[in-house]
Amino acid sequence: MKKYKVGIIGATGMVGQRFALLLADHPWFDVVVLAASERSAGKTYREALGSRWCMTDPAPEKLLDMVLFDADKDLEKIAAQVDFVFCAVNLPKAETKALEERYAKAECPVVSNNSANRLAPDVPMVVPELNPEHIAIIPAQRKRLGTNRGFIAVKSNCSLQAYVPPLFPLHKEYVVKDVAVCTYQAISGAGKTFERWPEMIDNVIPFIGGEEEKSEVEPLKLWGTIQGDVIVPATTPHFTAQCLRVPVSDGHMGAVFVNFEKKPDRETMIETWKNFKGRAQELQLPSAPKQFLHYFEEDDRPQTRLDRMIENGMAVSVGRLREDTLFDYKFVCLAHNTLRGAAGGGVLLAELLCAEGYMD
Ligand code: NAP
Repeated sequence: MKKYKVGIIGATGMVGQRFALLLADHPWFDVVVLAASERSAGKTYREALGSRWCMTDPAPEKLLDMVLFDADKDLEKIAAQVDFVFCAVNLPKAETKALEERYAKAECPVVSNNSANRLAPDVPMVVPELNPEHIAIIPAQRKRLGTNRGFIAVKSNCSLQAYVPPLFPLHKEYVVKDVAVCTYQAISGAGKTFERWPEMIDNVIPFIGGEEEKSEVEPLKLWGTIQGDVIVPATTPHFTAQCLRVPVSDGHMGAVFVNFEKKPDRETMIETWKNFKGRAQELQLPSAPKQFLHYFEEDDRPQTRLDRMIENGMAVSVGRLREDTLFDYKFVCLAHNTLRGAAGGGVLLAELLCAEGYMD
């Protein structure tokens, strides 16, 4: 595999820092550009970060003396130096959408963590184990943008990456009908640490702006189908969600209730999870977990602190599967929000796009 030159747009942020760690020694990708807002531009990564580094691993030494670009004003220079960029910026939706389109139109593909383009009908929103076939929409998007190489591909919202993967392999045979989910979401999901958000210590906040809508709508796009030049979202299963912010540094947990059209037995569900492999595993992508879905028989698992880092934070943990009094079943699930749910999911998507020839 040839090495691809990549940039990180939003390199100083919570997700950008994760990208820096994941990409510093990546077998396929070389980080040649770091960019953020005009506040950071012109500073070295070390200076721009100041005391903001919030990962437990130290910042990669080889990136610290790189000088940051202004993601907006230096766009042409950046596009000329890289094969593609990873993007995770904190900007109003319309500005993010416009910025990503400008990169794509400059013939620089964008692998995005932002929500701005997720529901655009010709933008693939991909969890590589679940709906890798959606990347086939890229030629249609290129046609709309008038590009030869440039396009935008996105990963989905972080919390659904805990509760959709266990449902996905069951849907084909048993047909998932209704899903009620309550998510318990870490503070890093808001780009925060306890130092920067002391109000979260010993506290639960029962509101995360826009999250419940995303949690109910985005799964339908994952189940969607390509029809002509667009991805048409599925109309079922029906999702209802409540999303709570909880005092946890990393790791989003979900408590799920589910009805099927044909109710499977418990053993079949667990076997299905154990045997499930997706395109990421078939292609042996460097960031793919060997076992995507880990089922725990212990009553008190998965636990956020114990289980969020399974398979480098790229696996999804599931437990407590049991019959319910109102629904067919209920279970608990967990995914690392800045790894599987953000930067790791972005890197895995980029690996899929490279392996399938979309970055050449
Ligand atoms: P964050 O920690 O607040 O970081 C924001 C980044 O955006 C910083 O690098 C910042 O640069 C940059 N930025 C701000 N204004 C900019 C501008 N005008 N031009 C270019 N860069 C600009 O946010 P985050 O948590 O990393 O989230 C970033 C994105 O990922 C958001 O869209 C978020 O919804 C999404 N996401 C986050 C998570 C998560 O778990 N945290 C999960 C999934 C998706 P400066 O340092 O120069 O200000």
